[in-house]
Amino acid sequence: MLASSYNSLYVVFSLIVAIIASYTALNMAGRVSRTQGTASVLWLMGGSFAMGLGVWSMHFIGMLAFRLPIALGYDLTLTGLSLLIAIASSAFALWLVCQKDLPLARLAGGAVLMGIGIAAMHYTGMHALLMSPDVQYIQSLFALSVVIAILASGAALWIAFHLRGEGKNITLLRFLASLIMGVAIVGMHYTGMAAAQFPVGSICGAAGDGIDSKWLVVLVIVVTLAVCAIALIVSMLDARTSLLATSLDRANSELVQLALHDNLTRLPNRILLNDRLDQAIHKAVRQKSHFAVLFMDLDGFKAVNDVYGHHTGDLLLVEVAKRIQNAKRGEDTVARLGGDEFVVLIDPGEPEDAAVLAQRLVESIHSPYVIGRQTVHVSTSIGIAIFPQDGDTNHELMINADAAMYHAKEQGRDCYCFFESAMNVNAHQQLQLQQDLRKALDQHEFLLHFQPKMVAPDGPMTGVEALLRWERPGEGLVPPDRFLPLAERTGLIGNWVINEACRQMSEWHARGHGAWNIAVNLSTVQLAHPGLVEVVRDALLSNGLPARFLTLEVTESTAMRDAEAALIVLDQLAALGVSISIDDFGTGYSSLLYLKRLPANELKIDRGFVTELAQDNDDAAIVSAIIALGKTLGLRIVAEGVETAEQQEMLTQLGCTTLQGYLLGRPMSAQRLLESVQQGA
Ligand code: C2E
Ligand code: CA
Ligand code: CA
Repeated sequence: MLASSYNSLYVVFSLIVAIIASYTALNMAGRVSRTQGTASVLWLMGGSFAMGLGVWSMHFIGMLAFRLPIALGYDLTLTGLSLLIAIASSAFALWLVCQKDLPLARLAGGAVLMGIGIAAMHYTGMHALLMSPDVQYIQSLFALSVVIAILASGAALWIAFHLRGEGKNITLLRFLASLIMGVAIVGMHYTGMAAAQFPVGSICGAAGDGIDSKWLVVLVIVVTLAVCAIALIVSMLDARTSLLATSLDRANSELVQLALHDNLTRLPNRILLNDRLDQAIHKAVRQKSHFAVLFMDLDGFKAVNDVYGHHTGDLLLVEVAKRIQNAKRGEDTVARLGGDEFVVLIDPGEPEDAAVLAQRLVESIHSPYVIGRQTVHVSTSIGIAIFPQDGDTNHELMINADAAMYHAKEQGRDCYCFFESAMNVNAHQQLQLQQDLRKALDQHEFLLHFQPKMVAPDGPMTGVEALLRWERPGEGLVPPDRFLPLAERTGLIGNWVINEACRQMSEWHARGHGAWNIAVNLSTVQLAHPGLVEVVRDALLSNGLPARFLTLEVTESTAMRDAEAALIVLDQLAALGVSISIDDFGTGYSSLLYLKRLPANELKIDRGFVTELAQDNDDAAIVSAIIALGKTLGLRIVAEGVETAEQQEMLTQLGCTTLQGYLLGRPMSAQRLLESVQQGA
């Protein structure tokens, strides 16, 4: 056998090249798995080339390090083939480690294939020497070299798969891993070389092409390093760029979030809502379908803010937002317009869907909120507009849903209303009405009628309830429910009623009816008005009427639905010395606890119960329960709407202290009232 030796400098070079190639390969694996589509394919191709070239050039430098006492050369075609094999194995390896997972079976199969690939490259490269006679291989070492190639490939695949991420110490880890991989590849090569034996007298068929192996080594090293360096630099730049792109993306979506969402509740804001509305309109036009806009406004939110502070108010809004989101369907949009206004877009949505959701929202918002140590109550009024019948533009739908919401407020809040064209009193008409009302007030077209309140069963009269009438020229007496909801918005009439009632009563007192009491109805709007206490005090003072002769009637729903705010105002009114009466009792859903906190003196059983009252029915049971309840709370019990003698008798028996109704006296003018009293006396 020919004695062989190695150029140790080349051996060192081959090791360095192996390590650099491994590092490049690991880096490429990271890029391939981090990118997608064409970019990923390009990285796979470039990566395979860089890695394959690296592995091959390690091998080739190792070959050049090998010396025999005869001239050596390399067949170009076979050497090229070995390079192709190296690149193909690399491509396969890279592809393998960039799959989502790497189960053991696949790892093992991959290791065998890649190991055989590397061995094939090596022995093809050896064959490029074109030795004659053929190189003889020591079987055991040959087998060992293949085993090492497979094991090294397995280790390399495993490491590459686990280091493909972009973690913290990734560079250091990759470097350590490439040391191991490099040593393994080199180990395979030199084991394979050790297996080769060259009989004495062998001739290298490829010798004599004249290239100096020194220059060949330099060339191969330079080309390989250049390719690896380019691959690494591009990879690093690409990682940077994609990092930059990711952070730009993130910053961008944060900006979008900020610009299109409300800061407090994180709900979409008006801008985003407008966009969604436009989309909904396009879609509904195309599909000839419907959608609904729910305009929500909280009742009593301002009071919560005033009493408990803005912080509590904010927390309440966040909680309300959560409840709305829980109540809506997944595909509906909830937006906050600011303040305590929310909009829900139900798309697609028929009126029935809107009603169901609106009811669910009313109930959900209504239940108490525990914020810090406070329990807070608010409710919501909802207006609903349906596309296309209630408006075919974004703007129109919102305006009309808002008008319907106002209507819900006027209905006593804590409820929902569908838009009706009658609600759409435009600004011009509003102004007109306001002028009409002002004129009516100036021209004394408003007047009060008075309905007696009697000690049960039939008198004497303890006082009257003042009921507003509009004597409209050409129309006669207009009952309050025809104009009150609209008149209330102007706030003009309420104050006039309070003042006029006090004036009338003080006049009657002067005429010798000094025990009579006058009841005035307060609307929700009036109760929410900050100047109310002042107005009542002024009316009493300027007419010289002691406060105990004035009763203010507040419906149960008015008192309940703006609970905390109502409590504060009613306490202030009670402090003036006026009586508070809870009107229409039994129609709302008061909590007993709340009722106990109200500074009320009187409870008026709703007309509905009285009308239905007959022996042996539920209403009798309800009325007697209400009476028992009122007595426990120390309240006077008034039954209103008494129309028959039978009702009169039953109510008296059940324990009502005061009766009011057509049977005992219709609402009438001041003059008629005096006449009828004088007749009765
Ligand atoms: P309310 O406070 O429940 O007033 C009682 C209503 O029942 C009055 O209707 C009265 O005429 C009617 N009524 C009295 N006895 C009977 C009876 O035996 N049978 C029947 N069927 N009805 C009876 P009116 O005057 O049309 O008032 C309607 C509502 O308008 C009042 O309900 C009250 O809530 C409101 N209202 C009336 N005047 C004023 C006012 O000056 N200010 C405010 N804010 N609201 C008022
Ligand atoms: Ca009343
Ligand atoms: Ca009533």
